[in-house]
Amino acid sequence: MRTGLTVAFDADDTLWHNENAFADVEQLFNELVSPWADAETAERVLIAQERSRVATYGYGVKSFALSMIAAACDLSDHEIDARTLRRFVEAADDLLAMPTVAIDGAVEALQAVSAEHPTLIITKGDLHHQLRRIDEANVARFCFDVEVVADKDAGTYRRILSRHRIDPERFVMIGNSIVSDIAPLVEIGARAIHVPYETTWALETATEDPPNPDRWTSVDSIREVPDLIAAIAADLETST
Ligand SMILES: [Mg+2]
Repeated sequence: MRTGLTVAFDADDTLWHNENAFADVEQLFNELVSPWADAETAERVLIAQERSRVATYGYGVKSFALSMIAAACDLSDHEIDARTLRRFVEAADDLLAMPTVAIDGAVEALQAVSAEHPTLIITKGDLHHQLRRIDEANVARFCFDVEVVADKDAGTYRRILSRHRIDPERFVMIGNSIVSDIAPLVEIGARAIHVPYETTWALETATEDPPNPDRWTSVDSIREVPDLIAAIAADLETST
């Protein structure tokens, strides 16, 4: 087993902006289906489509685009025309081509933490999209590993920790999603730091806080993370 602390960062909405662009496309979706449905109905049907597709298509833009097309067909009872459907495909093209914009202070926090502790990135979504963003953000140089995974559940984290011989007790995950970055870590006996983003995708919205509040905490800004990691590392030193 490794000694010392190992730290992992989520990527979308933790290192760089993501959900804000999806929210803009959802707005476009609502407008384009407005002849047949009000915004509330449009959102409900789209989210149901996304939820039904995640298990087979995974996360990311491609899955989202198919969900928009299927939801628009359902909402319009197949009256929607091909030109409008094409707008959804273009919106997906735009999402995939969007430049990677780092969240203020995130790359600096990753760099500061990686100077003290072995650090990796664990992210999910379309493989090509994630790899391009990691490349554009130039963050792999701070990491001993970058994992683009299909899902971020307890089993996924257990496999990654076991592969790298990391004791869960000595592992901290940092991310914006309670569902993907916090709850599964608490479940496997690791630690987590929640850094909320301005908006949260419906499928990442937690209905309740994870148990064991001594295992995770929430901070307002990723700039607070390096000091918090230093405090956790110091605690571990004195308790072992
Ligand atoms: Mg995220």
